Amino acid sequence: MRKSLIAGNWKMNKTMGEALDFVEYLRSHPGKEGVETLICAPAPLLYALADATKDLPTTVGAQNMHPQPCGAFTGEVSPALIKDSGATHVILGHSERRQLFGETDAFINKKVTRALSEFIVPILCCGETLEERQEGITMEVVKKQVVSCLMGVAEADVTRVVIAYEPIWAIGTGKTASNADAQEICKAIRTLIADMYSKKAAEKLRILYGGSVNTSTIKGLMAEEDIDGALVGGASLKAESFVGLTDF
Ligand code: 13P
Repeated sequence: MRKSLIAGNWKMNKTMGEALDFVEYLRSHPGKEGVETLICAPAPLLYALADATKDLPTTVGAQNMHPQPCGAFTGEVSPALIKDSGATHVILGHSERRQLFGETDAFINKKVTRALSEFIVPILCCGETLEERQEGITMEVVKKQVVSCLMGVAEADVTRVVIAYEPIWAIGTGKTASNADAQEICKAIRTLIADMYSKKAAEKLRILYGGSVNTSTIKGLMAEEDIDGALVGGASLKAESFVGLTDF
């Protein structure tokens, strides 16, 4: 049985004070039992957030990570620093990183293998553009991303990866993929994992949907068999809404 995961991606939002106010709300509203919750915050907030949430069920993740252990990479964040902060997860290959910062599948693959070797849970993002969807090549695009980004990952490790399917045209636009469309791609990703590894690994690995998810759409998405949770941007910024997402 795969545990549901509601992961907030705060992107480049919130100051320290705002982040700590959010945690105060979680203290009295921890969300529905049995649903895992995670906040992926900007790097400068990680230590304080991990400390503030240490007695709460919510865990903390980073939004990016460099694949090298340390060195001359100005402005980057090392795996060691993420671990030291108390963060347990890291979002890798988000479409904003791919589109705005030129990240390639090969670079993301290095990050995924590094995260796994450091026992940080990678949330590997994939998803197509609107043009690719209109061309009917969604699954080809997603398949290439997943296969390339998981290169060299052993079966014993792949079940620690969380895959987030985020169609780019649905991110921050208010347009959500229909429940059936989201399920179709998430199911195809699970089948791909079964082909690459085994049915057993595919049954264990969690797949999230992301793209304009909110408290009104979460119920329908979570009712789908292959959707194990959501990676949420805008609707994760208000504590009431984030907690509301666990109530599906
Ligand atoms: P929105 O929920 O704001 O569409 O963002 C989705 C996303 O990019 C999460 O990683």
